[in-house]
Amino acid sequence: MDKFEAYKKLGIDRDVFDFCEGIQRELKDRFEAIGAMAELNQLKVMDAFRKEQVQEACLMGTSGYGYNDLGRDTLEKVYADIFHTDDALVRPQITCGTHALALALMSNLRPGDHMLSASGRPYDTLEEVIGIRESKGSLKEYGISYDEVPLRDDGSFDIDGIREKLLPETKLVAIQRSKGYSDRKSFSVRQIAECINLIKSIRSDVIIMVDNCYGEFVEDIEPTDVGADMAVGSLIKNPGGGLAPMGGYIAGKSECIENAARRLTSPGLGKEVGATFGMMRDFYQGLFLAPTVTASALKGAVFAANIYERLGFETLPAASDERYDIIQAVTFRREDALISFCRGIQAASPVDSFVAPEPWDMPGYDSKVIMAAGCFISGSSIELSADGPLREPYSVYFQGGLTWEHAKYGIMNSLQYLVNDNIVDRNKLR
Ligand SMILES: *Cc1c(COP(=O)(O)O)cnc(C)c1O
Repeated sequence: MDKFEAYKKLGIDRDVFDFCEGIQRELKDRFEAIGAMAELNQLKVMDAFRKEQVQEACLMGTSGYGYNDLGRDTLEKVYADIFHTDDALVRPQITCGTHALALALMSNLRPGDHMLSASGRPYDTLEEVIGIRESKGSLKEYGISYDEVPLRDDGSFDIDGIREKLLPETKLVAIQRSKGYSDRKSFSVRQIAECINLIKSIRSDVIIMVDNCYGEFVEDIEPTDVGADMAVGSLIKNPGGGLAPMGGYIAGKSECIENAARRLTSPGLGKEVGATFGMMRDFYQGLFLAPTVTASALKGAVFAANIYERLGFETLPAASDERYDIIQAVTFRREDALISFCRGIQAASPVDSFVAPEPWDMPGYDSKVIMAAGCFISGSSIELSADGPLREPYSVYFQGGLTWEHAKYGIMNSLQYLVNDNIVDRNKLR
């Protein structure tokens, strides 16, 4: 069967097909560079698996208290090798990225301490963790104060501002690598390195925590390679490779990890407990696949940026920008376009392709959010997914794709929906 016929069966018409094929042809060099990065990261992961002698027994799980869980303990060493840290906490009991970040913060800060965000306002769900928005159980409630240094207009770190706001009682500085739901650029690890160097030159004892969500394996180094004391993320994003069904990780300095473990379980128990039931195989296999899955998602992001930029929409990162995470934002400035885009992605999903996503009041977010996520793992955003808050400027945040081929089809279908709904003029595709 001819390739177009195969797409046509899935609802893609000739104009959309030809336009997207044309874009893909222009991206040969970009895709090659992404493949080369995946190769480096695959070797990094392999090196850790070999060094820690991952073996069949690691793939089994424990129950009950989870004492002597070989799989869990070895996996944490593998993560520590990959991130070049003393230690790591990688657990199914960490429920999501927000939980991992909250755990890292709440376990390493004490009443009277001060926390500073060096990358401006943090990710939406952290507002309630910190107490920027009043919330039961927030850091604020425990007497931990907070301040933030907004980024400069060009999206860079405000070095003077950070210098000014670093107080004697500042115990921890948070840096967010990825833009999340904001309209800034994401930071490269090298940019983060400059910021860390400045902070450490003023206060060498301050803990630097990097929110590493969506950044893992996009570059050949991680924030912990340039002085971060903790890197924190979710296993239903990049490092879970699409197979980890839940979980989060913290990789970092011994003391930081010990604090986090004691908070997750209990003082006196720390890392020694925590059953892993049948989850270890997926954690290992997902981590093994993570470099190439991340590369597939990156190809999808670059493809989407090139398509939508050509059609006159603002994209962030721009079509030709370097990538520092897997998120692609497209700004539509109209609500109906955001909704159409998400419906196109949903319809191209392997699970729940027949449902239409609706905006809803999602816990942790302060405006309605629309989410397209027809995923094998609920809410997994390393799988092809798109979401966006229903507020100006109506940007969609697109990410994931377990395979490049699926990401490609999903993006083509998002465009097909925009054409069908008369938001994108068909003549522009010719
Ligand atoms: C996804 C994400 C988080 C955490 O989100 P969860 O949905 O709780 O996993 C935190 N920070 C950033 C930048 C993120 O992208």
